[in-house]
Amino acid sequence: MDFRLSDEQRMWQESIHAFVAKEIKPNARLVDENASLKWDSVHKMGPLGLLGLFAPEEYGGAGMDAICAALAMEELGWACGSTALAIAAHNGLGCASVALFGSHELKSRYLPAAAQGKKPDGSYSRLAALALTEPGAGSDLKGGVTTRAELHNNQWRINGAKMWCTNAGVADFIVTLVRTDSSKSSHSLSMILVPSDSKGLHIGAAEKKMGVKGSPTHAVTYQDVLVPADHLVGEIGKGLSQTLAVLDGGRISIGAISVGLAQAAMEEAVQYAAQRTAFEHPLTSFEAIQWMLADAATEIHAARLMVLQAAWLKDQDKSFTKEAAMAKLFATEMAERVCRNAIQILGSYGYSQEYPVERQYRDARLMTIGEGTSEIQRLVIARHIISEYQ
Ligand SMILES: Cc1cc2nc3c(=O)[nH]c(=O)nc-3n(C[C@H](O)[C@H](O)[C@H](O)COP(=O)(O)OP(=O)(O)OC[C@H]3O[C@@H](n4cnc5c(N)ncnc54)[C@H](O)[C@@H]3O)c2cc1C
Repeated sequence: MDFRLSDEQRMWQESIHAFVAKEIKPNARLVDENASLKWDSVHKMGPLGLLGLFAPEEYGGAGMDAICAALAMEELGWACGSTALAIAAHNGLGCASVALFGSHELKSRYLPAAAQGKKPDGSYSRLAALALTEPGAGSDLKGGVTTRAELHNNQWRINGAKMWCTNAGVADFIVTLVRTDSSKSSHSLSMILVPSDSKGLHIGAAEKKMGVKGSPTHAVTYQDVLVPADHLVGEIGKGLSQTLAVLDGGRISIGAISVGLAQAAMEEAVQYAAQRTAFEHPLTSFEAIQWMLADAATEIHAARLMVLQAAWLKDQDKSFTKEAAMAKLFATEMAERVCRNAIQILGSYGYSQEYPVERQYRDARLMTIGEGTSEIQRLVIARHIISEYQ
């Protein structure tokens, strides 16, 4: 395993860093306060490839390797948790489902505009979303999904409700996990691409959240929504296994965003500690502060390597489910600790909205929940370990 980035990967990272430092980070506070993405910044992402990370080049995407995608997500996380989450869900959930499993027709029809951020008529496209979670089911999709789709006259008729869908209110399409047979077996779920202008599709108001406030999260209801039969994504009855494959990749992104959030919080803490004095000495002279900084730097480094290793395995077409779960588990819990300690180092200023660490802490808190909670990551890891050593 070789963790040295190639020249191309390093140049990509540097260019994304320069972009987010200028365009995204200075606006992160406003995005949080207004609970709204800064759309002119999102529109600038299309030409850079940030909206088509996983879309193949033949469908207008950037066709990036998983390492480049993880580097981009870390940079976005460093700049703004809300923007990073919206872009991660667009690429890694909505677009990736179509890119991985969609037919040539679906990919040709939906990916180019999503990936380039522009439609053929020159107008800006919106984002993509993936709706798995329901009001009554998140971790247990297999047993809990009740949204149903029935095939009649070459059309899917969809009825049900989804919850906590990132980007639903700003999406051109929502890939939706539905039950296509009445059993609760692993083969009873399927994925269907639902255009967001479908009649009978209702998007709730944006949820009011603790953090990642600028990343829009919505309830979605489906009332006799009719979608052409060819909008099935992948195979009928394969929705659960397809979802798990998409989430494996998504977990690398969430891990990477968490590394970025932690890196940003640590940088704030170091800068603050160097200029703030107490007892006639800078805070950086106190061992208690040094240890928090040393732990932060060490854990960020470890998490970054875990994220990149999971991405590297993905790029090598090797199994990466366990490593993605480990990376997500460690990186997200690490980010919470690092952001918490950054607040501690800044004292009362850390608790104030004047400094970004309280926002980073609130944003990091989500990462241990979305795309599979820490408990579910531990289940995935334990299952792998037990089967490997039995
Ligand atoms: C900001 C935000 C954005 C989101 N974006 C999306 C999105 O784009 N698309 C989407 O589909 N969903 C999205 N979600 C939903 C998210 O993925 C789910 O909330 C998450 O998977 C957990 O599901 P749940 O909330 O139903 O919790 P539950 O499944 O009800 O779990 C509640 C608690 O029980 C624990 N638990 C459950 N089962 C077990 C078990 N077997 N062993 C041990 N502990 C267990 C969980 O870890 C958790 O602590 C988003 C959520 C948020 C908050």
